[in-house]
This record gives sequence, C-alpha cells and structure tokens, in this order.
Amino acid sequence: MSEVVVCQTFGGLPWTPQYVEEINKEVCLGCGRCVKLCVQECLGLESFEDDEGTERYVAKIVNKDQCVGCRSCGKICVRHAYSFKAKLA
Ligand code: SF4
Ligand code: SF4
Repeated sequence: MSEVVVCQTFGGLPWTPQYVEEINKEVCLGCGRCVKLCVQECLGLESFEDDEGTERYVAKIVNKDQCVGCRSCGKICVRHAYSFKAKLA
C-alpha cells in the first residue's frame, strides 16, 4: 500500500509537503504575486484576450517537478485559487 511522503523540518519534526495541484483560472486575477514568490520557479503567467479584446493574465503551473510542497503560493493568493495534494511514495 502507498504511503504519503513525509519529510522533516530543520528541527527534525515531521512535515508533509502539500504539492501544487491546480490553479482555478476562474478566480485568478493574474496579479503575479504567486509567480514572484515561488523560489522554485514552478509558476508562470499566461496571457489571453478577454471578451472585450483586452489582454489579461492568469497564473499557470510551468514546472511542477520543482515543487517542494511549501504552499506559499496558496497562502499569498487573495483569491484562494490554489489547491494542493500530498504525494504518495
Ligand atoms: S496570486 Fe492568485 S490571483 Fe494572483 S496570479 Fe497568483 S493565482 Fe492569480
Ligand atoms: S507549493 Fe511552494 S514550491 Fe510549490 S509551486 Fe507553490 S510556492 Fe512553489
């Protein structure tokens, strides 16, 4: 049976990484705060044209393999656009 990946904090306490799973594009404002925040460079912005022809942006996951499961991107997002998931070993 698979078990959830559990790491350790500096002090040796158990810590379960919650890896980035999805960004809800319906609520994302495209502010880019999450993109700047992620030191692992997992995130980016993509542009699209809205119904009125204005260029807009939404966040997207560009490099999930680099994610360390810190959830900082979700914490900074005022729209609560992020969802996360632990990983099975
Ligand atoms: S912080 Fe939230 S609203 Fe801003 S770009 Fe990231 S996902 Fe979108
Ligand atoms: S959980 Fe942490 S490492 Fe993963 S995408 Fe978000 S900020 Fe980056």
